Amino acid sequence: MNDGKPMLQAALTRLADAGKLLDVSPEVLDVLGQPRETTQARLTIRMDDGARRSFTAWRSRYDDSRGPTKGGVRYDLGACADEVETLAFWMTLKCAVVNLPYGGGKGAIRVDPKGLSANELERLTRAYTRAFARVIGPDRDIPGPDLGTNATIMGWMADEYSDLVGHRAPGVATGKPVPLGGSLGREDATARGGFYLLQHLASELSVARDARVAIHGIGNVGMHMARFLSEAGYRIVAVSDSRQGLFHPDGLDLAAVQRAKAKDGLASLIGVAGISGCKASEVVLADCDILVPAAVENVIRADNVDGVRAKLILELANGPVAPEADERLAQRGVTVLPDILANSGGVTVSYFEWVQNRQGVAWTLSEIHTRLRKMMEEEGAAVFALAREMRITPRRAAYVHALKRLAAAIEATGARRHNR
Ligand code: GLU
Repeated sequence: MNDGKPMLQAALTRLADAGKLLDVSPEVLDVLGQPRETTQARLTIRMDDGARRSFTAWRSRYDDSRGPTKGGVRYDLGACADEVETLAFWMTLKCAVVNLPYGGGKGAIRVDPKGLSANELERLTRAYTRAFARVIGPDRDIPGPDLGTNATIMGWMADEYSDLVGHRAPGVATGKPVPLGGSLGREDATARGGFYLLQHLASELSVARDARVAIHGIGNVGMHMARFLSEAGYRIVAVSDSRQGLFHPDGLDLAAVQRAKAKDGLASLIGVAGISGCKASEVVLADCDILVPAAVENVIRADNVDGVRAKLILELANGPVAPEADERLAQRGVTVLPDILANSGGVTVSYFEWVQNRQGVAWTLSEIHTRLRKMMEEEGAAVFALAREMRITPRRAAYVHALKRLAAAIEATGARRHNR
C-alpha cells in the first residue's frame, strides 16, 4: 500500500504510533491507511499570447468519515500526488483535532502562479473547477486557500461552480472575498489561531512575554504571526522569505521588513542598523526561544535537527518537521506545538464561513474571534491534558485526540458506502 509515496508513508508513521497508544481497532487504521479517492486532471488553457498550455492538477479526498472533505488548493511548481495526498491526510487529522464536522481533502495545480497574468490565473482556476466539478461540492468536498492561492482565486472557484450547477453555491469554497460570501477574519485566521494557542499555553510552557522568535516564511501566515507576536511584546529576531533570511539579535523592525518585502526584497536590509543576512533555510537554526515555521514541509529533518536552538516550535506550516526528526526533538526537550493543532485556525474560520453561507447570515469580526479563541483554547487544553496524562509529546497527544474522534466515526459507520 502507498508504494512510491514516501511522504505519505512517512506521515502515516505518526498515525500508526498513535494507534498503538490508543489500542484502536486495526480496521480503523486500515481505513485511514490510504486516501479514499485522488483524481488527477490535465488542465489546458489559452495563455494571453494565444498559445495553449497544459498543467497537471489533483484533488484528493482522504477520508470523509466525519463529514465532507475539506482542505486547500495549492498552486505550486513542486506539487505532486504524494504531497497532495499527504496534505489531505493532515487535513483529516486537523479537522478531527478541533472537532470540525469535516473529513480531509486537498488539491493542487503544478504551476508557478507568479509566472501567470491575472487573466491566465482566472482561466486556470475556472478550468480546475470544471475539471473537478463532480468531486467538489458544498456537501462533498470544499476547497479553501493554501500556498499560492488567495481570496480572489477562491471567489473565481465559487463563481465557476455556481455557473455549472445553475444557482449560487457559495458554500462550495471558503476563503472567498467578503463581498462574495467570504467571512470576516479568514485572512489572518491561521496566524491568529496559533497566537491564541500560544498565549493560552504560555505560562504552562514558561514562555517569557519578550521571548525571541524566528519566523521561517513571512508569507500571509508568517507575516500576520509576526505582527501578533510583536504587538504582544515578543521580539522577532529572524525572518525569511523564499529567497533570503534576516537576523537581528535584539529584534527586527517589522514595518521595515514589510516595506522591503513589498519593494526591493529582504536582502536590501542587510547591513542596515545591525541586521545580518543568512540563507532562508538557516532561519530554522537561528538563536531564538521560539521557532515558527510558516512556509513549507520538511524544513526540519534528521540532517539539521540538532542545529535547532529554539526550545519551542510552533508549526504554522503543514508538516515542517519531518517525522524522522520528532524523536530527536523530544530527546532534546524541545516542545512542538504540532501543525494539526497549531495551524487549525485557518480551516476553523473556513468552517465558520461555510456555516454562515449555509445559514445566510454574517457574523461580526468579534464573534469570529471569540469563537476561534474558544475553539483553540478548548482543544489546545484537551491535547495538553492528554499529553500530561499519558506522558507523551503534544504531537502524539494531538494524533491520539484526533484518532479517538475518527475511530468513533469509522466504527459507527458500519459497512461503508462508496457512491457519495
Ligand atoms: N490550507 C489550510 C490548511 O492547510 C486550510 C484550507 C481551508 O481553509 O480549507 O489548513
